[in-house]
Amino acid sequence: MRQTLVMGNWKLNGSKTMVAELINALKAPAAEAGNVAVAVCPPVLFLGQAQELLADSTIALGAQDADVHTQGAFTGENSPAMYGEFGVQYVLVGHSERRTLHAESDAVVAAKFAAIQQAGLVPVLCIGETLEQFEANETQAVVERQLQAVIDQSGIQALASAVIAYEPVWAIGTGKTATPEIAQGVHAAIRAFLAQQDATVAAGVQILYGGSVKGASAAGLFAMDDIDGALVGGAALQADEFAAIIKAGA
Ligand code: PGA
Repeated sequence: MRQTLVMGNWKLNGSKTMVAELINALKAPAAEAGNVAVAVCPPVLFLGQAQELLADSTIALGAQDADVHTQGAFTGENSPAMYGEFGVQYVLVGHSERRTLHAESDAVVAAKFAAIQQAGLVPVLCIGETLEQFEANETQAVVERQLQAVIDQSGIQALASAVIAYEPVWAIGTGKTATPEIAQGVHAAIRAFLAQQDATVAAGVQILYGGSVKGASAAGLFAMDDIDGALVGGAALQADEFAAIIKAGA
């Protein structure tokens, strides 16, 4: 039985005031939805503050990206080992904004995935097709290529201690959520692809959906057999909306 996981990706948003207000407003909804795991991924600068605020909470902490290196002359980067000191449990890797705006290749994403696991943290591997690829019926080929790059580097067993987030790029921040049926179709195909390599890993791995998830659309998505939660961007910045998504999973 896979636990539902609702994760907020705050992207480049926040301030000390906003972090305090948002986290404090989420503690009760997260505690009430005891069977749903909840995590937030604030910008790196606020991880220390978030760690303190979350000390008495069930909400887990995540980061949005990590460097492949542990330390060294890599100006501006943050390593998975450093995140560990701030109580970070999850690290997003391969988000489409990183792949597109920072030109992260499948190989870079695979190396980051391995580095995150080596530091004892849980990578949340983001995969998904662009609108052009969706319209050309390439969704399955794209997500398989993105998954296989990680499997080639770390092995199929590595996915037993990871989370997958399927995020169609055309649904991110656009207000266009994939219908539950479209999302379920891709999630089931991802699981079938993994099952060809290891049935136990395929059955156990949480596959989140991401892309314009709102309080109103969450229940329909979570009702699907292979959708194990959500990676939420815009709606994660509004306490009421994020709380509604958490509640939909309870
Ligand atoms: P969105 O973002 O919910 O604003 O579409 C999701 C994401 O990028 O993870």
